[in-house]
Amino acid sequence: MKNIVIIGSGIGGSGVGALIATNTGNKVTIFEQNSWLGGRCGSYTKEDKNGYKWVCDVGTHIFGNCDKGPLGDILRKIGKENAVEWAYCRNPGPRINLMGQVMSFGLKKVSKKPKTERKPRKSRKKSFKQLLQEISYEETYQFDDLPLIDYLKEKKLNAFMYTLQAGLMFGTGPNTTSTGEFLRCSKKNAETMSMGYVKGGCQSIPNAYCQAVEENRGEVKQNVTVNKIIVEDGVAKGVEVGPDNEYHEADVIIANSDIKTTILKLVGEKHFEKEYVERIKNLSWGGQVCSLKLGIDIHVTDDKWLNYVPKMDAKDVKSIDFSNVEGEKKQLTIDDVPSKSVIMIVPISNLDPNLAPKGCQNLHCVTPTLGIGGTMEERRKMNKKWEETCLNTLLDLWPEIDGHILWTDFVSDVFLESKLGKEGAGTGIGQVIGQVGKKRPSSITPIKNLYLVGGDAGGWGVGTELAANSALELFEYFQEQKIL
Ligand SMILES: Cc1cc2nc3c(=O)[nH]c(=O)nc-3n(C[C@H](O)[C@H](O)[C@H](O)COP(=O)(O)OP(=O)(O)OC[C@H]3O[C@@H](n4cnc5c(N)ncnc54)[C@H](O)[C@@H]3O)c2cc1C
Repeated sequence: MKNIVIIGSGIGGSGVGALIATNTGNKVTIFEQNSWLGGRCGSYTKEDKNGYKWVCDVGTHIFGNCDKGPLGDILRKIGKENAVEWAYCRNPGPRINLMGQVMSFGLKKVSKKPKTERKPRKSRKKSFKQLLQEISYEETYQFDDLPLIDYLKEKKLNAFMYTLQAGLMFGTGPNTTSTGEFLRCSKKNAETMSMGYVKGGCQSIPNAYCQAVEENRGEVKQNVTVNKIIVEDGVAKGVEVGPDNEYHEADVIIANSDIKTTILKLVGEKHFEKEYVERIKNLSWGGQVCSLKLGIDIHVTDDKWLNYVPKMDAKDVKSIDFSNVEGEKKQLTIDDVPSKSVIMIVPISNLDPNLAPKGCQNLHCVTPTLGIGGTMEERRKMNKKWEETCLNTLLDLWPEIDGHILWTDFVSDVFLESKLGKEGAGTGIGQVIGQVGKKRPSSITPIKNLYLVGGDAGGWGVGTELAANSALELFEYFQEQKIL
């Protein structure tokens, strides 16, 4: 029996931990530095002034393929497919509200007329749906190094809308987003048509994974930080944890902690070749995000997932323009933070009515906070402004909620950075040209017995599904190589 130490209980860490604990005879120990499980896919409770406890998610999540995607694959492989109850975004399906005009994700106007009365339109141009049907997953890799904007122009697709979709998926701009990754993710979504949420809040998924670890000889230790990975003669031997640097020996160490911190700090540059260190240093993160949550005491929407693009003045549009993010982060100042922004809204109580008291709604919203601006103190101030931006945008969409807000909570990119690393990025290493497919950082490190998992290494997909695919790929590698 081998001792497997996993650093972090995010989707990647808890997912691979569950796969190993359930399917091999080895002992898994997960060390999680925070009080909650699941990292960015975690949840917490917020008590309102009436003493009602609301479930809030750290992020604002829609799972691209629910049970039909990699999150479900892990559950099946650990025999826990029924431990999680999915809630699809159907009736109504996902919507985009473009300055008052409501559309489906296929960019069709949502019509009140019955289908039979609508006249079919003839077009010689291939729709995005047709393009996705025609291309195979293997063929998408040929497009890995093509900027999304070039593909959209060549295929005469709606650049604004697909750029917006890519921005929501990866937090990256059209000049740098990899067309191949965009096509893979969109194809999977089109095939399964199963976007949705999970009952009980996002944490239900990592909870199920961690439960599998504990039911199979493993341990999940919360509030325990891994301070150092001990390497001797190019081999990872164990970790030092907690305030007293307690030593834990390990046969295999899997880091779900962010790739830069893991390689440059937890292990240390001196253990790697210069070239590898440079590669890690030069990796860029996907987009930063922040998330506003609020409880309201009225019913304002039947939507299950709505992306709102408000009317903005030219200055505001420029400051949130993804196409301005050219590989490097733009330096936003506090004055650049727009008064309204593009927001993704998930009214989580429409997907699970238990997440709000009767007659109330639990709304979760997310917006990109493009660019890193200056010191932490300056960023904190900017985050305060982003919080106002989110609220202002919501009030622009639904003025009737004014006076009906019971509580608000805000997860900023500074919070994400300080509690979870990755410089506040929503997902991990950005899915841009040079960082996807064959060029994605590998889960296998130059140090023997040290591996990486999660949104920073291996895998493909959007957010949680990227991390879940990374876990599945790493577990497959362990099995194929007969390591575990
Ligand atoms: C606001 C927001 C909205 C999002 N929206 C979506 C969405 O709609 N759909 C979607 O699929 N995804 C979404 N995501 C992205 C998704 O949540 C992440 O991509 C995914 O959860 C990342 O998983 P991960 O395995 O990389 O690990 P993370 O979630 O980053 O977890 C890493 C874990 O490691 C722990 N850790 C780090 N260092 C140490 C250490 N030294 N010792 C012990 N523990 C340590 C951390 O505390 C953390 O728990 C969103 C994220 C955010 C923030």
